[in-house]
Amino acid sequence: MSKQTLSFQAEVAQLLHLVTHSLYSNPDIFVRELISNASDACDKLRFEALDKPALYEDAPNLEVRVSFDKDAKTLTIADNGIGMSEQEAIEHLGTIAKSGTKDFMGRLTGDQKQDAQLIGQFGVGFYSGFIVADKITVESRRAGLPASEGVRWVSTGTGDFQVEQIERAQRGTSVILHLKDDAEEYLNAWKLKSVIAKYSDHISLPILMEKEEWKDGELITPGDEAGGRQPGAMVKTGEWEAVNKASALWTRPKKDITTEQYQDFYKAISHDHENPLTWAHNRVEGNTEYTQLLYIPAKAPFDLWNRDKKAGIKLYVKRVFIMDDAEALMPSYLRFVKGVIDSSDLPLNVSRELLQESRDVRAIREGSTKRVLSMLEDLAKHDKHDVPAAAADGAEAVTDVVDADDKAKEGKYSQFYAEFGAVLKEGLGEDFGNRERLAKLLRFASTSSDTATVSFADYKARMKEGQEAIYYITADTLAAAKNSPQLEVFKKKGIEVLLMTDRVDEWALNYLHDFDGTPLQSVAKGAVDLGKLQDEAEKKAAEEAAEAFKPLLAKLKDALKDKAEDVRVTSRLVDSPACLVVQDDGMSTQLARMLKQAGQ
Ligand code: ADP
Ligand code: MG
Repeated sequence: MSKQTLSFQAEVAQLLHLVTHSLYSNPDIFVRELISNASDACDKLRFEALDKPALYEDAPNLEVRVSFDKDAKTLTIADNGIGMSEQEAIEHLGTIAKSGTKDFMGRLTGDQKQDAQLIGQFGVGFYSGFIVADKITVESRRAGLPASEGVRWVSTGTGDFQVEQIERAQRGTSVILHLKDDAEEYLNAWKLKSVIAKYSDHISLPILMEKEEWKDGELITPGDEAGGRQPGAMVKTGEWEAVNKASALWTRPKKDITTEQYQDFYKAISHDHENPLTWAHNRVEGNTEYTQLLYIPAKAPFDLWNRDKKAGIKLYVKRVFIMDDAEALMPSYLRFVKGVIDSSDLPLNVSRELLQESRDVRAIREGSTKRVLSMLEDLAKHDKHDVPAAAADGAEAVTDVVDADDKAKEGKYSQFYAEFGAVLKEGLGEDFGNRERLAKLLRFASTSSDTATVSFADYKARMKEGQEAIYYITADTLAAAKNSPQLEVFKKKGIEVLLMTDRVDEWALNYLHDFDGTPLQSVAKGAVDLGKLQDEAEKKAAEEAAEAFKPLLAKLKDALKDKAEDVRVTSRLVDSPACLVVQDDGMSTQLARMLKQAGQ
């Protein structure tokens, strides 16, 4: 078949431009991206071959080979994984199919530094090759297709690419980078090994490089040892050796893993370039056996609020990669958690559908959820804002959470909360079983704190004598909450009110009626009953006022009959003449506004 020239999808062209312009300062990452693609391709082959062993052809040992040619100035990353058909090459290397891409594109600011960070989170993938190459040739053949159905894909990373059919004996993919002049440092075994060690050590299949040996130069005058030699050089030996440890990090004992290795592994699986806040690495034994290595990132990803956002958990079964984004393993309100779960109980050919139904999976999910909550409780405990030892009773011990010393945990909970607190609140509605543990992890601003650092426990500890409820108000902004007329009587009496300004607060609080036996009460709902906080004189005055204003109230009620359900005398105002409230069982004004915004 003849060569055809095709255009990149517009988003790809845009991404390419961005990648080459924003990431030149960190070119090494192309190695990570291309090796991770090679490794993914091998994982895919292994998975497909579970049903169809013939796909292995005569090469059952999956591997990645990295080689370079100094004269041609090319660097090649080759794998014997699943490969691509011509159609797949066109689709996978010419378009971006990932959900969230549009969202991503929409967030680009034009500011290189910021955009580079975003790209880091997004994972630039294959196109990162163009940071160092002015031309990339990909040669591939999909496992199972005949040798005559290989494909060559070539592009200079501008507007278009060429594809043609080629003869290719070996299955899998070779990515050949024609290096730019300023990227010649990658034509060096030492450099490549160090980058591979940094980014790809955890890859669980061997990454091979050809061994080099020092060879002395030729004698200048043959036969005359004393006459000197031409300069020597490293020459290739034809023998290949693994340059990575090829051990899945999570399978190694904790004591053999350094903090830096944990952090590097996180960066490798998350595309994040910052260190994680904390992590937990455990082998769980019992009815269901599995290993978990779970990380809490320091920064929220740009698409945290995307409802289709994939969970960050990779599922392995006995070290064989099964799938990314295993959403069945982590509830949606913990979708920011990244990591690996390796189970020895699930069948290798487990499908997403099966995952949903498996009892083992349910046990793993419960165990992992608890583990994440423990990590958070541990951070909260060491946060200096926190009241000490708000230790979760009934919670499992949190002592074996692996992390640096306690000192290093200071301030981390506030950092976590600022990034992910709002997501965590979704758990109140989603995870009935852990509601109480979650409630303890929540923090709010209040009339005594502008920052979201007040826990329900803090609040309770400061409640006034005779106060019977935890009071809160919801509003769009902190300023609106603080200046609400509904707070007047609380201010006057010096009663703290929690100020809730997250969009999810209203919804989430529907699921939390009390904390530790003390009811939660919105100051904007119904008639505020201050109970014992009101003295006899005040009560009497209120009753008298209600009586005295009866005729006026009747008139107002009549005048507003289509607009207001009731008009009554209130004790919640001090300076303002009137305010709107909702019925006890009514939808709050805030929720009503939210639903209206959402078009309901
Ligand atoms: P991602 O890996 O996140 O899907 P990439 O840009 O890295 O995104 O790769 C795009 C797609 O190209 C991959 O999903 C895969 O289908 C295909 N691909 C890339 N490299 C290889 C390879 N070495 N073998 C087979 N397919 C590949
Ligand atoms: Mg990739």
